[in-house]
Amino acid sequence: MKAMVLEKQGSPLVLRNLPIPEPKDEEVLVEVQACGVCHTDLHIFEGELPARRLPLILGHQIVGKVVTVGKNVSGIASGDLVGTPWLFSVCGECVFCRRGRENLCENARFTGYDVDGGYAEYFLAHRDSVYPLPQDYKVTELAPLLCGGVIGYRAYRAAGLEKGDVLALFGFGSSAHLVLQMARYEGHEVFVFTRSPHHKLLAWELGASFVGDAEDTPPATFQAALVFAPSGYLIRKALEHLAPGGKVVACGIYATPIPEIPYELIYKERSVQSIANSTRNDVRELLAMAKQYHFTVSTEVYPLEEANVVLERLKKREIRASAVLVP
Ligand SMILES: [Zn+2]
Ligand SMILES: [Zn+2]
Repeated sequence: MKAMVLEKQGSPLVLRNLPIPEPKDEEVLVEVQACGVCHTDLHIFEGELPARRLPLILGHQIVGKVVTVGKNVSGIASGDLVGTPWLFSVCGECVFCRRGRENLCENARFTGYDVDGGYAEYFLAHRDSVYPLPQDYKVTELAPLLCGGVIGYRAYRAAGLEKGDVLALFGFGSSAHLVLQMARYEGHEVFVFTRSPHHKLLAWELGASFVGDAEDTPPATFQAALVFAPSGYLIRKALEHLAPGGKVVACGIYATPIPEIPYELIYKERSVQSIANSTRNDVRELLAMAKQYHFTVSTEVYPLEEANVVLERLKKREIRASAVLVP
């Protein structure tokens, strides 16, 4: 099979021809039809996140057809269309797993990080990391739902919005353009802060009621802000317009340091929280929401071999919404 392999962090991925992997008892062999490209891939690629194994196949927003399943896998059959997100497997035994916070599992393994991911023609999923997908989307539209959608959904729920609350989004890529739609479907006004002219246009098209730069003053305070850009500066910036009792949710796996925060910016019960990974329930709920509302998923589709070009474009913020690789 063809695969784009990370052999050394900071160096371009290398196109390799590898044997098709054999599924073990609890694994599922999937023929990849689409794999989304996430900022986390870029952080691993560039070395902002330490490598846990090399060589490595990146990619954790994988959509494909089941080819074969291991002997301890039930409920999934060859030919099924399935998706695999970032969370690959959890231990089920640690204190976090026992409390239903498996996203914080001390022994979690992640797709395209601890195990090979979807920048390839085939991929080995764990039986607990395959999900049936809604039918009425293209495979390239389903891929960004699996991380951009899922992490966005977890952050959106963590924001704890109540009726009439305004949501602010800082950074407007794959995840935020889906969250904007979740919030609009549920009746919230959305303010978007982004530098990119492409992203500004998309935010207006999807129904934002204010779009500006981080330095602009919004027309009102907001009750919650989700910060998608990997910038500690923006986390602090969001606090400047946050209503009392409101929450800033940092959605990235990586961010630059947060500048000093004067106490009055968090006084009146304002809080800052991060989002780490997701639970299996988050994935199921997001996919159910995607089926109910039918999101507009803005994608740019590239052949697998162009993975390096896509990572470069993602770094330069040239991708309008979600980049997807197709073998
Ligand atoms: Zn655990
Ligand atoms: Zn991701």
